[in-house]
Amino acid sequence: MKTSVFPSRYVQGPGALMRFSEEAGRFGTRALALVDANLPENVLDGLGMTGGCTVTTQIVNPACTPAAVEDATETICQSGADIVAGLGGGKVIDLGRAAADVLRIPFVSVPTVAASDAPCSALAVIYDEEDRVLKDHFVWRNPDLVLVDSDVICAAPARFFSAGIGDALATFYECDACINSGAGNLCGGTGTQLAYSAARLCLEIITEFGEQAVEDCRNNIVTDAFERVLEANILLSGIGFESGGVGAAHAFHNGISELHEVHHMLHGEKVAFGVMAELTLNDYSDKDIEKVARFNMSVGLPVSLDELGITSVDASIPTIATRAIRPGEIIHNEPMTVTQDLAEAALRRAQAIGRSQLQA
Ligand SMILES: [Zn+2]
Repeated sequence: MKTSVFPSRYVQGPGALMRFSEEAGRFGTRALALVDANLPENVLDGLGMTGGCTVTTQIVNPACTPAAVEDATETICQSGADIVAGLGGGKVIDLGRAAADVLRIPFVSVPTVAASDAPCSALAVIYDEEDRVLKDHFVWRNPDLVLVDSDVICAAPARFFSAGIGDALATFYECDACINSGAGNLCGGTGTQLAYSAARLCLEIITEFGEQAVEDCRNNIVTDAFERVLEANILLSGIGFESGGVGAAHAFHNGISELHEVHHMLHGEKVAFGVMAELTLNDYSDKDIEKVARFNMSVGLPVSLDELGITSVDASIPTIATRAIRPGEIIHNEPMTVTQDLAEAALRRAQAIGRSQLQA
């Protein structure tokens, strides 16, 4: 069976937060917005509080643990809200997503950074109290509304935006791998033509406009290039990965994340290197992988394990590979049998190409 999932409504543009009440009001009468405690206070000044539904805000710590979800669910119940919003980084969005799912009420996703393609998805990552991933929890349905304020995202550090491009870079290659192997997507079927097209368009947009968009983000100027890449990072990549499927780039990310020394690196930064390793697995030519490496460099993404903070690269490669290929891992969505040797060889070749491009 082929399946695809989407948010019900997607709104993106400068000042989009001003339309919060009006847009959320399509789905209920009383919204409770869970607001990331790390957000600059002035972000809330732009939150449209009238026009559709009534809006109350609750500042929350960015944590998505089982206890935090329980607390948030309780808070929502007591508030009498019939809509929940998560406003902030990934953890607060996932907190709202998971709590809304418990209560089976509409969810509004309001990302304030574009560091990954998670905002449009039905995936909530649940952590334990030590900040280790406990489980990937797929909620019953995708967000009813995704509200993306370009001004807010453009004002955030450009490193987040670059990381989002790294995550978006993986989408086409992973979707393509799943189509080639017949592997399933993340919504209970196999990929649709639309998912494949979204993934391909995502790659085209970031390739053409990525460098300019990052430059614009560094200068805090919302431009056409910025808007296009923002949509690619959040909407196109979101549809592409969830309805198309994931593969080796994210498996290598999971392997790299085993190492303590990379904990300061962002998801999309690790994925960006994972893409290079995925391409070596799929027998892309050196020239093609060099092109991807140069793209990564042009948008401020790493192309080597050293840049991810790994000090003893040779000794770390077997550890990364072992984790990346463990039974049930998404690397087995690739159209070839990935062994320990093959995974290590892919990492070494990606590393060598990345290093050569850095020195070029
Ligand atoms: Zn990702």
